[in-house]
Amino acid sequence: MGDMLTGRTALITGSTSGIGAAYARALANEGAAIMLNGFGDSGEIETLRAGIADEYGVTVLYNGADMTKPNEIRGMVKDATDRLGKVDILINNAGLQHRDMVDDFPVEKWDALFDVNVKAPFIATQAVLPQMRERDWGRIINTASANAFITSPGTSAYTATKHAIMGFTKSVALETIETGITCNAICPGTVRTNMSEHRIEAFAAEKGVSKEEALDAYIDRKLPYHQPMRRFITVEEIAAGAVYLCSDAGAAMRGAAFTIDGGWTAR
Ligand code: NAD
Repeated sequence: MGDMLTGRTALITGSTSGIGAAYARALANEGAAIMLNGFGDSGEIETLRAGIADEYGVTVLYNGADMTKPNEIRGMVKDATDRLGKVDILINNAGLQHRDMVDDFPVEKWDALFDVNVKAPFIATQAVLPQMRERDWGRIINTASANAFITSPGTSAYTATKHAIMGFTKSVALETIETGITCNAICPGTVRTNMSEHRIEAFAAEKGVSKEEALDAYIDRKLPYHQPMRRFITVEEIAAGAVYLCSDAGAAMRGAAFTIDGGWTAR
């Protein structure tokens, strides 16, 4: 455990599972107080919250704001500010995926992806900026994706949202360029979380094979295409990038894409 972020507070959206939960652990491991957010079973969320607090000896709170509801997002930022004293670090991580060809893509799914993946980070960023400007210190990290740069068929809305959040990241970075606030995006390749798990289950159903067989096939067929490393990226490998961005050493990273994608975009 380190103390690099002792005295700092972090609000992490979509942190009840996957990459977001790993960000929470990694920042708590450096001494930051945390506010978790996201959906899930209330008992499991409480176990996660209490577990991180116990393991790292930091304050860990939870707010269940729905990222499709601007007033709830603003309420969550106020709740974090009231109960943690301030918000030094905002990680906009909650995300939705939906796959369909453009011909069939449901408009309501398109809107939901844009609400959670793009509009929510805008609303949350707008809500935290005044206090970050007052203290002249802040870290805003958006979880984008390799899909901020490249795409594959069936992911039009997701790809469009991740390109959009990359553009938003650059805009915020330049609007705060003369301050101590940085804004960057982490761009993961394929990480094994609920999001990819659903994809593997769909692949199994489509091919009529077991989940284990689907996983093998997914790795063989998909990962060499997506990720030359031929393995999933771990949530800890993604979270380590956030720790760097939150450090003083990361102060000159501005509007950058921090790509942790197993070589996917290097191909
Ligand atoms: P995940 O499904 O485990 O996590 C998504 C989180 O967002 C969960 O905590 C969920 O409860 C929360 N969430 C969803 N809708 C919400 C809403 N309306 N309000 C509040 N919270 C909501 O998946 P993950 O892979 O950990 O995804 C985290 C981020 O990483 C997403 O932005 C995703 O696009 C991005 N990403 C994931 C991968 C991957 O391969 N898993 C790759 C690149 C980028």
